[in-house]
Amino acid sequence: MSKEKQRREALVYHAKPQPGKIKIVPTKPYETQRDLALAYSPGVAEPCLEIEKNPEEVYRYTAKGNTVAVISNGTAVLGLGNIGPEASKPVMEGKCLLFKIFADIDGIDVELDTTDVEKFIETVKIIAPTFGGINLEDIKAPEAFEIERRLKEELDIPVMHDDQHGTAIISAAALLNALELAEKKIEEVKVVVSGAGAAAVSCARLYKAFGLKGENLVMLDSKGVIRKDRENLSTEKAEFATHRKIDSLEEAMKDADVFIGLSIAGIVSPQMLVSMAPNPIVFAMANPDPEIPYELACETRSDIIMATGRSDHPNQVNNVLGFPFIFRGALDVRSTKINEEMKMAAVRALAEMTKEPVPEQVNITYDITRLTFGREYIIPKPFDPRLITRIPPAVAKAAMETGVARAPIENWEKYEEELFL
Ligand code: NAP
Ligand code: MG
Repeated sequence: MSKEKQRREALVYHAKPQPGKIKIVPTKPYETQRDLALAYSPGVAEPCLEIEKNPEEVYRYTAKGNTVAVISNGTAVLGLGNIGPEASKPVMEGKCLLFKIFADIDGIDVELDTTDVEKFIETVKIIAPTFGGINLEDIKAPEAFEIERRLKEELDIPVMHDDQHGTAIISAAALLNALELAEKKIEEVKVVVSGAGAAAVSCARLYKAFGLKGENLVMLDSKGVIRKDRENLSTEKAEFATHRKIDSLEEAMKDADVFIGLSIAGIVSPQMLVSMAPNPIVFAMANPDPEIPYELACETRSDIIMATGRSDHPNQVNNVLGFPFIFRGALDVRSTKINEEMKMAAVRALAEMTKEPVPEQVNITYDITRLTFGREYIIPKPFDPRLITRIPPAVAKAAMETGVARAPIENWEKYEEELFL
């Protein structure tokens, strides 16, 4: 399809038959006078009074517990940059659509007209009573770090900045599986991370939680290798600065076991791949064009284990494998947080299910024959019906085990049955 045809198709999709991608639908009867007297005045006063007496009852009598706000200020939208709140709305509506179809969560997009960190935080705190959870989206680094940190601390509902943690969770699952295929240990591998933005920093932190050694990691930004002796490093960059006296990506790649690309297209050369260790793991995730094209990388190294951010190659690191199911699990136990243990539980569940037999339905959906664990399948496909029954319970259990679940699940069998949409 030509670029122009694709553009028109996308615009018509968004405009017709009605503008946008989501709408609100009542869930209770509204046909009779009696229905209306219950839905609104006077009947509605009863749940109001119950909630006034006990605020937790808001989860019983309103949609709060299944509603997630998708909040952005439009400062780092897709690869489009700072395009402002209105222009970010299609993306936020899209995220709401994904929440709905993958996890039956009602997402409500909220676009804020501010780039001021304090104002952003204050606004989200003010509107938080409406929601069961907050998905922060497409907010520029470093502001995004501070906004998420503060909101997690100051709110008692799950808050997650998906651009940071979504990518970290999905790529960590892919990394664990790739390491297993390469027969390498995370505690021993040398990793190069290209990029030091929202996604890269969060990935590096999560990989460390799984055992990656700080001294085995080299991170680069637009100015080159992030070294201890560099001046004016942000707190996040300083956290990953290396003692090694290396000056370039080329040097960093020599004998590296893993390359993580969350930067820009085309910065990795075939020569760099050749210099990597055997069975190199290359996750070139810059979108839409990776740090090295998929075909070129595979031609260069037949022993490569490669992932990208693109759907037209195997092993797409796609955030949709994470956020719907992670919020599902968090909401279902009324978790006050999405903490590290919950994210790690999602990683392990994703990695594990990839190694099990794939339902035939997945082969059919993707027009693939006999998808099996291996170099070209290290991470589940989004339309895998097992995701909804596997990831939320793992996340919910981790919430319970770490004491952040306000409504622990007692009957797991019943819960898993309810998850079948
Ligand atoms: P971001 O916060 O803007 O960070 C971009 C980072 O790339 C910055 O740290 C920047 O350096 C660095 N950079 C720019 N040019 C570079 C170069 N030549 N060499 C090394 N680093 C360079 O963006 P982000 O949200 O982290 O996303 C980064 C990229 O990853 C984007 O292409 C995005 O589409 C992609 N991504 C993909 C997925 C996925 O596949 N699932 C998920 C998230 C993000 P400075 O700090 O010096 O500016
Ligand atoms: Mg995003």
